[in-house]
Amino acid sequence: MNTYDQDCLFCRIVREEIPAKIVFRNEHVVAFRDITPVAPRHVLIIPVTHISSLSELKSEDEAIAGQILLAAGTVAEILGIKASGYRLVFNSGSDAMQSVFHIHAHLIGGQQMGWPPFP
Ligand code: AMP
Repeated sequence: MNTYDQDCLFCRIVREEIPAKIVFRNEHVVAFRDITPVAPRHVLIIPVTHISSLSELKSEDEAIAGQILLAAGTVAEILGIKASGYRLVFNSGSDAMQSVFHIHAHLIGGQQMGWPPFP
């Protein structure tokens, strides 16, 4: 059974109580356009079940974690950036500037990126 937090913005997107530009969904995850994109392609991939952050993932969530990673390849294909390349980022906690506490992967691409990712 999926956990739901009625105060969580992303849980409400899962339930379609808040609109989002959904690019892919299945029974495990929803992927939608980030409202403030940082690159030409920027999609968030979230599990349908509420988990607050990467650091709260438990061993029993292994399948959920796998579904997020599997969805990344599918979403990259939908966005047309599978061949050109893309980056998957999980912000966890304050140093990483996590702002929404429902675990999400940022799938970013559509331009040449640098490494390391900070100035
Ligand atoms: P983070 O800082 O890693 O927690 O990322 C949260 C992301 O959610 C940010 O990139 C926001 O732009 C994005 N975001 C916040 N609200 C919405 C929304 N209603 N629809 C789509 N993306 C959102």
